[in-house]
Amino acid sequence: MERETLEFDVVFVGAGPANLSGALHLSQLVKQHNESVASGVTKSESLGDVEICVIEKGATIGAHILSGAVMDPRALRELMPDFVEQGAPLESPVKEDFFLYLTEKHAIRSPITPPPLKNHGYYIVSLNRLTAWLGEKCEEAGINIFPEFPGAAMLYDEDDRVIGVRTGDKGIDKEGKQRANYEPGVDLHAKVTVLGEGPRGSLTKQLVERLGLDEGREPQVYSVGIKELWELPDDRYPAGRVTHTLGFPSDSRTYGGGWIYGMQNNILNIGYVTGLDYRDPLLDPHAEFQRYKTHPFIARLLEGGKLMRYGAKTIAAGGYFAIPQTYADGVLLVGDCAGLLNSQRLKGIHSAIKSGMLAAETIFDAMIARDYSAKRLQSYETRVNDSWIIPELKKVRNFHAGFKHGRWLGMVNTGLQFVTGGRSWGLFDRDKAQPGHTEMQKLSAFGYRGDDIEQRYNGLKFDGKLTFNKLTDVYHAAVGHDEDQPAHLHVLDTNICSTRCAEEYGNPCQRFCPAAVYEIVEDGANGKRRLQINFSNCVHCKTCDIMDPYQIINWVTPEGGGGPDYKGM
Ligand SMILES: Cc1cc2nc3c(=O)[nH]c(=O)nc-3n(C[C@H](O)[C@H](O)[C@H](O)COP(=O)(O)OP(=O)(O)OC[C@H]3O[C@@H](n4cnc5c(N)ncnc54)[C@H](O)[C@@H]3O)c2cc1C
Repeated sequence: MERETLEFDVVFVGAGPANLSGALHLSQLVKQHNESVASGVTKSESLGDVEICVIEKGATIGAHILSGAVMDPRALRELMPDFVEQGAPLESPVKEDFFLYLTEKHAIRSPITPPPLKNHGYYIVSLNRLTAWLGEKCEEAGINIFPEFPGAAMLYDEDDRVIGVRTGDKGIDKEGKQRANYEPGVDLHAKVTVLGEGPRGSLTKQLVERLGLDEGREPQVYSVGIKELWELPDDRYPAGRVTHTLGFPSDSRTYGGGWIYGMQNNILNIGYVTGLDYRDPLLDPHAEFQRYKTHPFIARLLEGGKLMRYGAKTIAAGGYFAIPQTYADGVLLVGDCAGLLNSQRLKGIHSAIKSGMLAAETIFDAMIARDYSAKRLQSYETRVNDSWIIPELKKVRNFHAGFKHGRWLGMVNTGLQFVTGGRSWGLFDRDKAQPGHTEMQKLSAFGYRGDDIEQRYNGLKFDGKLTFNKLTDVYHAAVGHDEDQPAHLHVLDTNICSTRCAEEYGNPCQRFCPAAVYEIVEDGANGKRRLQINFSNCVHCKTCDIMDPYQIINWVTPEGGGGPDYKGM
């Protein structure tokens, strides 16, 4: 079967808030320009029909979108000043903010809410719903939206200029052979390709490596957020109430914190973030979240409630120093895949939307100039620097680094940053910044006994009411993948798993994956242990690609449409 090629002006890879806003803004700019030329107001050529397409690996727009989320509406207001009147799905304006420090038994309420966690004027949203709504707005504007289309490979010309993206093949069986329904992926050619894949994008990873876009920048560091939606029996936690917590269950060397947001219809949105630069090889972010719910304050809150949904996703938390070069010939990076999230506020929706808009403005100028070179597209970086995105990130540029020395120094550092405007006077040796996985220590360094990998969570029982094992939770993520396809989690050397990794780290993939994808099983025939990859459980969070101590796990896109369905999340 011949591979088809489709020609577009601009291809946006990933239908998240960044790219959907970018596509919508670009179509508005083109429309305004063409109207202005037609009416004689602008003395320039019309751009004619500009073909814009957005591809998304999920089955529907929003299916793979998982967030808190309290949204700072600043950027959405710039994109669409009347977003409320236009029916943006907002759960509730934030009505009250709480900040709690949790000891094992007590919840101590801070008399003041730290400024970064003040959310007055913001909205609690389901980002899944908001994204689906933005997708509808794009379709109304004539933008081509293709769900079930994963971007599988970047396309380059002979001079390494990006000329588009190849989508994944369909109908390959688990042995790698073509099935009856085989369809080769399509080559989508574009003058500009915009990568808005979210954190740890699989194409972004390839591109950054190939073009050295991270040269001279710090390695990106990540966290993973694990979240559940609960239906409560009454209105004990009203819509619009926002609580952030610090302390239990994280130990003081591990970066972590929780959130509890009140949504409509007595739905509680609760989650816990763990830094993917933790040291203990037996740490399990999903188990940390389950322990979080056993805290007396939280357990009381959830009493009589029912688990509705589950999900997990990583967060790019490196901030200012970890932003890669965001442009090259024919390509731009936006949103989380450009690392524009403010980790101190745990907010990235606003900067994702804004960066998408700035990318659109850059592309529009490039269309007028008919020049899509890196030199021309560099003005995107200038635009981001001159917008409110970079000043916001600069003020908190040393936030995450402060927690490297534990919670208490991290908090002191956070307080100091308010006064110093983000300066650290060389306290953090930026040249020595390392990727988070290098922080993981070997079992022996923690004095763990033999291969008893349960020992960190010996006291944690999954009762099926308050606490759930991974498989039960994965069921609530509504994950689906066609099982007759090759695993999309490529472990480059499985020998390491049964030898070095087992001895040194006790196969931490079994724990850091929040979806029970990785399992060490006895090999019936010879009694040896081997890695089994339950890829159909994968919730596309990318934790494995980030946290594997040997960096031998490569996450690639599975067949289009596979993955979680985060309805209402
Ligand atoms: C647990 C958690 C809590 C958060 N809480 C908040 C909060 O309270 N407030 C806030 O402002 N921000 C919050 N954030 C951050 C916020 O969600 C992100 O900053 C924002 O969603 C980034 O938008 P994006 O468009 O860059 O990427 P994403 O929202 O990640 O969207 C990327 C899209 O691209 C698709 N995609 C990826 N790769 C491919 C590919 N190769 N081919 C096709 N499609 C692809 C994905 O399926 C996805 O739909 C939170 C994040 C998490 C994980």
